[in-house]
Amino acid sequence: MKILRTIAEVRAAVREVRAAGGAVGLVPTMGAFHEGHLSLMRAARAHNDLVVVSLFVNPTQFGPTEDLASYPRDEARDAALAEAEGVDVLFAPAPAEIYPDGFATTIHVSGITDVLDGASRGTFHFDGVATVVAKLLGIVHPDVAYFGQKDAQQVMVVRRVVRDLDLDVRIEACPIVREPDGLAMSSRNVYLDEHDRRRAVALSRGLDRASALAATGVRDGVVLTDAVRRVLSDAGIEPEYVELRSLTDLSPVAELDGEALLAVAARVGGARLIDNHILKASS
Ligand code: AMP
Repeated sequence: MKILRTIAEVRAAVREVRAAGGAVGLVPTMGAFHEGHLSLMRAARAHNDLVVVSLFVNPTQFGPTEDLASYPRDEARDAALAEAEGVDVLFAPAPAEIYPDGFATTIHVSGITDVLDGASRGTFHFDGVATVVAKLLGIVHPDVAYFGQKDAQQVMVVRRVVRDLDLDVRIEACPIVREPDGLAMSSRNVYLDEHDRRRAVALSRGLDRASALAATGVRDGVVLTDAVRRVLSDAGIEPEYVELRSLTDLSPVAELDGEALLAVAARVGGARLIDNHILKASS
């Protein structure tokens, strides 16, 4: 596996494979790898000739009060894990390679970024995500880029950028990888002390409860979101949001009909956690 720092080096590596007719897969990450990241790398490895993983803690998607400085970083460990998954290129640029002096462009996706994490964290977050992902797609020109369904709104934002800007790439969303007790894996789980780690499972338990209700025929959005709130409240967790929203445009869903996204965000001790289920109306 090559560790590359510059855009020129990545382009050269991709060009070689492309010239031979090979398919290129990209997995964008911020490092601190866990099984969620590795599942994306495996999906990319299974379907491409060249697998590029980007490792870049993107400063523009963090707010001034967020955890940019303390975000877990361990490139040597990440490189070893990526290499073990058969990744060909780890693209780990310095911030100045991505944002050189004079950088002046921001991609803003309107509408679907006004809610959930966009409302909770602020507009800067998805502006930062959309801009860096567009850049990574421009640098690597992958056939397929792999994202985790854990960040369901992020997947929707990326798909919208690709569609609206006619980018020639397929976006693949991979299932949420969970700890044995159900907690969605996240680089931020390392912020949880033992007590908060036990409480944190309430997010997935609450979503499980709502999914079970939906399976028995419950369709009322308030009943479904209240079920999550109750499990969180029993664990002493006050959510930032628990919302049932449309999978096409993230508009609010009052009555489950077909499929909808049930999304939750909450601060648990030192970690801001998110999780979601796709609820299906039972017929
Ligand atoms: P991050 O390094 O947190 O930016 O995540 C990089 C990619 O991994 C994103 O597409 C995430 O959605 C995905 N990811 C993070 N956690 C998980 C998880 N538990 N299961 C599946 N994908 C994940």
